[in-house]
Amino acid sequence: MSSAPQWLARAAGTLLGRRYPFVLCYHGIGPISADPLRLFVSRELFSHHLDVIQQHGYELLAVTDLWQLMQSGDARRSASITFDDGLAMTAHEGVPVLLERGIPCSMFISTGLMGKPHPHLDGAMIMTPAEVVELASAGVEIGAHSVDHVRLDALDYADALDQLRRSRAVLEDLLGKPVRSMAYPYGRASEQTMRAAREAGYELACVCSGPGPWESLSIPREPIYSSVTSLRLRLKMAGLYGPVHAIKSMPTRPSSQRI
Ligand SMILES: [Zn+2]
Repeated sequence: MSSAPQWLARAAGTLLGRRYPFVLCYHGIGPISADPLRLFVSRELFSHHLDVIQQHGYELLAVTDLWQLMQSGDARRSASITFDDGLAMTAHEGVPVLLERGIPCSMFISTGLMGKPHPHLDGAMIMTPAEVVELASAGVEIGAHSVDHVRLDALDYADALDQLRRSRAVLEDLLGKPVRSMAYPYGRASEQTMRAAREAGYELACVCSGPGPWESLSIPREPIYSSVTSLRLRLKMAGLYGPVHAIKSMPTRPSSQRI
């Protein structure tokens, strides 16, 4: 999470018209009967999000390409769309919307769940290995998301390293090419988790903490829920959603204490 001075600097930059790259974290695209976690965005709302991003002049890149551009050039008009968990419905409903527009994206797969139901999203299936290969052939960047979709920051070093190594090895065998990126399940990583990610050979790893410092093994992402309207999306793109939400959530004083 960003410190207050980082938020203020970013807010001041936004007001002065400066742009920043951003990375969005989606899960499901498409219809679902019950979604208590609000992790599924309709195809229509997803298309609308893309309209807003493109109307603001951002070029969308796979997250590894965005990070590379940040190291070598001006990425202020660039952004990235990522999907966690590798849901089959997202591949069928969301990815075609991107491909029709020629937009690359990145998808992070929990390899031990391929072809199985998602443990927390009722009835939603994770892609089979064949579907993952098909998606990679269509140009989607495939990254890892652990083997079992576990909180890596809650594991000891050896177990976290094992999850990180095995998921990468499975995907590399499947795709026949190096897997460079990953997203931490639940968007969480400790310093120890990041050390394990480096030892497992990842060049880039994503958290899900809102705006924050850009580091290769802690790439900040904005989580996207079905409740993200145009206004909320614009705030997230500008890195201002966290501060505005924090101010809105501040307890109001009883009237007798107001000044
Ligand atoms: Zn996940």
